[in-house]
Amino acid sequence: KSVLKTRWLAHQLVHLESVDSTNIWAKKHHHELQHGALVLAEEQTGGRGRLGRSWESSKGEGIWMTLVLEPGLPMHDAGKMTQLAAAAMHQAIVGVTGLPVKIKWPNDLLVGDHKICGILTEASGELTRIERLLVGIGVNVNQQAFSGEIAAVATSLRIMMEQPVSRVALLMLFLEIFEKCYDDYVLHQSYGAVLRVVREHSMLLNQPIDVIRGDQRVAARAVSIHEDGRLEVVYEDGQSELLAGGEVSVRRK
Ligand code: ADP
Repeated sequence: KSVLKTRWLAHQLVHLESVDSTNIWAKKHHHELQHGALVLAEEQTGGRGRLGRSWESSKGEGIWMTLVLEPGLPMHDAGKMTQLAAAAMHQAIVGVTGLPVKIKWPNDLLVGDHKICGILTEASGELTRIERLLVGIGVNVNQQAFSGEIAAVATSLRIMMEQPVSRVALLMLFLEIFEKCYDDYVLHQSYGAVLRVVREHSMLLNQPIDVIRGDQRVAARAVSIHEDGRLEVVYEDGQSELLAGGEVSVRRK
């Protein structure tokens, strides 16, 4: 399969050899990029995760990309787009590899206890309306090993499959699935399929977790993923809270 069958997504395609971060590049080139543009890089020298953390993006071995979107949604719906991207990438990785992928709310995909994909959604606009949404996604595809700090937490599709995996096949399938989910949601207000995927394959639901804010760590249980993309947790004193992805980290105990 080698023809991209999307109706509008990735029809504008920027392919960079090396970049600091595809999200940063997309911000700087704001005026050249239209809704649906895809910025892809072979390597990121300053890839980022949430909350200022770094994301290792080695040359030629991963999919390091940013989708540029103008969904015209209220700002508080940005979290739903992260869930949508996670669900679409989940379906794409399962489609290409058959691996048992789990979704760790709000933005990571894991196989076993190891991270295979991270998502960094950044919205800009006025207070209430998203003008532009950058969905940055990193997928570890063909790394043969990891070194340093992330060796304990990261894995790649190649390591799990014990053979190389086609970045093109995975990317094309992802784009087709993402476009379908996006159109269902943004054009037809239909978000049920995304919720089914993120709930069914969630790593955290019904598990004891720690909710981490700065250096504060509080024990809780993850009880549901709401329709707005937030995670409902119940603390040991019985209080519950809805968490938005931008502000907290959660760890399974
Ligand atoms: P969190 O797990 O708290 O949500 P982020 O989503 O912000 O973290 O991702 C950043 C973290 O992911 C880094 O601190 C690092 O531990 C880990 N990491 C960095 N690069 C990679 C990679 N290529 N693959 C898997 N994990 C990575």
